[in-house]
Amino acid sequence: MSGVRGLRHVFAALCCGLALLAAGAQDPNFPADHRALKATLSFEAMTAFLKTVEKPGLITVSEEGRSAGGRPLFLVHLKRGGTKARFRAFFYAQQHGNEVSGKDAQLYLIRAIAEHPEVLPEDVDLYLMPTVNPDGAVANRRTNDAKADLNRDHIVLAQPETQTFDRIARRILPHLAVDSHEFVRDGKKSEMRGLEAWPIITMDCLNHPLFPDYLRAAAMARVLSAAPVMAKAGHAYDRYTLGGLPPDGETRPSTTEVDDGRNSLGSLGTLAFIIEAGVRRNLPDPQIDLGARIDAYLKLYWHLLGTPASRAQVRNLSERARREPLPPFLATNFFWANLGGKTHFVKMLDRATGQPVEIASPNVMFDLVVKSSVPTPQAYVIEARVAEPMKALLDRHGIRYEVMGAPTKLKSERCRLVRLEEPYDELYQRYENRQIVAREAAAEREFPAGTLLVRLDQPLARRAISFLEPCMLYGLYAFPEFRALQQPDGTLPVQRLP
Ligand SMILES: [Zn+2]
Repeated sequence: MSGVRGLRHVFAALCCGLALLAAGAQDPNFPADHRALKATLSFEAMTAFLKTVEKPGLITVSEEGRSAGGRPLFLVHLKRGGTKARFRAFFYAQQHGNEVSGKDAQLYLIRAIAEHPEVLPEDVDLYLMPTVNPDGAVANRRTNDAKADLNRDHIVLAQPETQTFDRIARRILPHLAVDSHEFVRDGKKSEMRGLEAWPIITMDCLNHPLFPDYLRAAAMARVLSAAPVMAKAGHAYDRYTLGGLPPDGETRPSTTEVDDGRNSLGSLGTLAFIIEAGVRRNLPDPQIDLGARIDAYLKLYWHLLGTPASRAQVRNLSERARREPLPPFLATNFFWANLGGKTHFVKMLDRATGQPVEIASPNVMFDLVVKSSVPTPQAYVIEARVAEPMKALLDRHGIRYEVMGAPTKLKSERCRLVRLEEPYDELYQRYENRQIVAREAAAEREFPAGTLLVRLDQPLARRAISFLEPCMLYGLYAFPEFRALQQPDGTLPVQRLP
């Protein structure tokens, strides 16, 4: 075969492939059966697919913003029931660019609905953001082009991707949301002990104590009720945990901070989940079981979408949470613990036999303990000297505030940052940067014009508390640009109005 003929052949095949892809038909790189997918769909392939998949009255694709590297951020809106579609769901994926199976599952979900619209229940108003981090997707890397970890950026919203994401989330106000990630099954430490993580897919949910307990309980009920569904589908499934290896290492559920997508959506009153599929990163081809991960993802997405009755229940709970008055006290210091030192059994896979083994461990921390709380204030006052950066932050979060036009006397409680904690947990570095704060007695003070007032009788009050409350163990002052706003004696720029 001559070189020219060979090239022509390749070119013809390429054109043919793109045309078929456009038609949604069989393409070797995007096979009809997701279980046959051998390599993740690239950002370019996804973009090409999204350009062809729009259908009036069913599927809309919009570009909602641009990444740090200038790449488009796509939102796909699927709905066929018109005004009947009152249950709003928001599934997003690939905040970490090298965690791909949630994104691939969403592209299969879009194609399934494009080809068979009837699979989408009429009462569902579905929004998908398959790639929150296109820079990381292209570079096969966790971070965006600004080297930021987007799933730790939801307090300060410093990145264009998280700013766009949060605007979308506040516009949709979903009743249900799912973040989509992947974890490493075959880490070096477990490999050395001949073990690896047992599940191929895991799930967890919102957990900050600021969110109403019925919302957290309803989400956890769905994490648990997925187990028989996944067992029936043949997928090893467990609640998501992280930490060290049993029995010595600590095992615990997702973080309780609001710097990730899951809890940041929880602060909007959304029944928010995180799914993590397990990848064997140390295999020569970690994507060898990609099809199984996608299948597991699709099963969980459909499980969470549920039935008409369960959707009505979730919608009611979420809307009730949005109206729920604030509690009289705010938990500010809380962590995972093991009440009474129970012995749990951690399921892992024995690499030699391929069989699951249960390892007894006293270090499984499934109980959320509240160590201290403060009375809920009526409002926060923000010193005029820091008004500009704080206004920008409040605007990014959609939080309402007033700018005082004249000097005003108010009784306020100041807080002082004593120190930030050093990391002590080498397996889980996020114990670092806990804010150790001393709260002072209330006193009458005069605040000059230009002072900001954030009242807590507003729709996003829980969101406001989640990052403004100065006594919160994790918050703004872990971030250097906000830590720099403290006074030389450690006095913090946000005061509490009792
Ligand atoms: Zn991740």
